Order: sequence, then C-alpha cells, then structure tokens
Amino acid sequence: TAFPESEILDRLHAVFGFNAFRGVQADVVERALAGRSTLAVMPTGAGKSLTYQLPAVMLPGTCVVVSPLIALMHDQLRSATANGIRAATLTSVDIDRGQTIDRFLSGDLDLLYVAPERASQPHFLEMLIRGRVAMFAIDEAHCVSEWGHDFRPDYRLLRPLMDAFPDVPRLALTATADRHTRADILTQLGIPEEGLIVAGFDRPNIRYAITARDNPLRQLMTVIAENPGPGIVYAPTRAQVEKLSQQLQASGRPVLPYHAGLDPQVRADNQARFVASEDMVMVATVAFGMGIDKPDVRFVAHAACPKSIESYYQETGRAGRDGDPSVAVMLWGAEDFMRARQRLAEVEEHRRAGERTRIDALASLVETPHCRRALLLRHFGENPPPSCGNCDNCLEAPRVTDATEVARKLLSA
Ligand code: ADP
Ligand code: MG
Repeated sequence: TAFPESEILDRLHAVFGFNAFRGVQADVVERALAGRSTLAVMPTGAGKSLTYQLPAVMLPGTCVVVSPLIALMHDQLRSATANGIRAATLTSVDIDRGQTIDRFLSGDLDLLYVAPERASQPHFLEMLIRGRVAMFAIDEAHCVSEWGHDFRPDYRLLRPLMDAFPDVPRLALTATADRHTRADILTQLGIPEEGLIVAGFDRPNIRYAITARDNPLRQLMTVIAENPGPGIVYAPTRAQVEKLSQQLQASGRPVLPYHAGLDPQVRADNQARFVASEDMVMVATVAFGMGIDKPDVRFVAHAACPKSIESYYQETGRAGRDGDPSVAVMLWGAEDFMRARQRLAEVEEHRRAGERTRIDALASLVETPHCRRALLLRHFGENPPPSCGNCDNCLEAPRVTDATEVARKLLSA
C-alpha cells in the first residue's frame, strides 16, 4: 500500500472516532487502498460501510457506491455526512442532481451513492469518465446472483460499467452469501478469486430458539416478559403486524407497528421512537431493520418462518449488536412451509432450484435436534464446534417427541 498503517489508523480515528478495526475490516480497507478488488462477506453489524467509506476519504477521486434501496442510501448519506465525509446521492428523488454532478466533476465528493439502474444510462458512464472514480463499492452484492435470495437484474449492468474502468478497484459487500452465491458474485462482478474475504459469522451473544407455534400470542407474550429490553417482533404480513401490535399492547410495554403500508412520516416517527427507547417492542414486517443503528436490541422474535436461512440470520442479527446477551426466538408452523411452496410455484423456472434449496435449508434448521448455531455457521461455510451451549437444542434435553411432531407437521405441509 502507498499508505502506512499509522496513517490509516489516524484517519480511522479522525473520521469515525474508532481506535481499531474490527475483524477483517483492516484487510478489506488495505486491499482497496492498494487498488485491489475484493468481495467481503461480513455479517450484519460487522461494519461493512466503513470498509469503503474510509478508502473513499483517503483515495483521490470519488467512490461510486451502488446500493439497492433509496432509503438505505439516504441513511448512509446521513451518517457519512455526520462524520464529515463529502457524500451525495444521485437518484430519481433527488432534486439537486445538477449540483451533485458538478460536485462530482470538480472532485468535491468522497462518496456518490447511486441505484444499479443508473449504471445502464449512457449519461452516467459519460459523467464518470469526465470525473475521477477512485473505486466502486457494490453494497448488497448478493443481488447480482440468481443464487442469492434477492436477485436484482439491474445489478448485472454493473459489470459492463466497471469494465470501462479496468484500473479502478471494486469492493463488493454482502452479509448473506453461501458458497455458491459467492462464486457467482465473483464471476458476475469480475473480481478475482483471491479477492474473497469472509468474516466470521458467529454471534455468540445471541441465544437461538425455534419452537412450534401453538399459541403464538401467549408465546410472544412470554418472550416479551422474559426480555425487558427493546425488541422486534417480525410478522409476515402488514395485516398481521397491525393485529399483533394491537394484541401485544396487553404486555404493558410500549408497542408500535412498522410496515411499508404506513404513512412515511408515521414510519419514521415509530422508528425514531424505537431507536430512542429502552423497552419498546416494534412489531414489523421485514421492511424494518435495514440501516437501523440500534445496538441494544435484546430480542428478535419471528411470529413465522422467515423466507430463508439468510433472512433469518440477517433479521436475528439485529439483536445484540452491543455484544450483550440477547435472544432470537422463531415460532414456526406447517402453514409457513405451505406458503413457501406456493411461492415456489410462482418463481421463474430457472430460479426454482435455488429457491427449493433455500426452503430445504430452512426446514433443516427448524427440524434439527442438534446445535442451531453449528447448522447456521456450516451454512455460511464455517466449520464450527458441534455444540454451542447457547441455543435451545444445546440447552435443553433432547426432545424426541418434538422431533416426530416436527416431521408430522412438515409432512402435512
Ligand atoms: P453492516 O453494514 O456490516 O451491517 P455497519 O456498517 O452499519 O454494518 O456498521 C455497524 C455498526 O458498527 C455501526 O454503528 C458502526 O459505526 C459500527 N462500527 C463499524 N466499524 C467499527 C469499528 N472499527 N469500531 C467500532 N464500531 C464500528
Ligand atoms: Mg450495511
């Protein structure tokens, strides 16, 4: 690297106020500063943003950040700007696009956030050529893969765009990629195999429990009663969020709903109140959580199965970012798998195999009589010890009757 380690650490402290890198952050940052392309697979909360924001401040030119959601971009913009980083978004909802383009062209931006569909616009390429691009950062990079759980065709347009800048390093970031998806991301984004960096996925302070749903209201009330700190209850539909948030008022805790159907102002208010609260229960669809920085979430409860192990890991990962003990409780029922199979019939044929694999993987997480954490970590390519001592299966005596119950429910789905 052209940058001595002391200078990198100085800037880390000056810009972000942090005294040290966490885990693989240092490797990822050093590669970017050295002009090498990387795919960094780092769990939610591991600190992915910093791995492109720091090089963006240090390298001459602008880091072009591709991000799939405008809301996510605006969150990132707020926090980057708060750290004194020169950043802007270039999206259809920004009215000051002309000014942003001028800032880019005059070298006045460290970060420029764009949506993937912009990459296909000839104007955008022309603009990039006229300015100076320091690096490309591709957030939520699993979106480029049909094997990933959230394929976005527009992500495929990034490769041709980036290929116009062969000397500019690429940094792809994702929290959720199994082995198959990783290999695909490398190919699709033109990143060499040696550029793969995978962080440890274990979240040892999260206690996992997965239980058949018999009386969900009572079960959720118990989770809430046992965990006095802030928590999130995920429900699969807006209607269920509304209903549950009414019913859970009986817990005596402050309870608010969050879903994409709410007025944006209400949504923003509810989110702000949750972030500030020490005992609130947020009942939400999966629309809630991305980009929310609340380290002291003490529990995440799923009222139903999430759609994949990746989603489960990401959603439960919102608990305990401060490292303190936290719990993740999932209630599951045969209907969840029935719904998943109905969805399977609706997906395009060429994606069906991947989708089926995801349902099967989720079923094995639900069914396993062995360590949940070990299964999760193996899913992400790690080689964990056989038992963790901090999940329901490790803590409770084996439940033979439950296993047959699970099998019966799965068969009847
Ligand atoms: P991710 O995108 O991987 O989910 P973020 O980039 O949102 O994670 O970072 C999660 C949190 O960790 C943020 O609050 C961030 O400020 C914090 N963080 C990141 N890097 C460090 C570090 N080196 N030291 C302390 N806190 C950090
Ligand atoms: Mg992030």
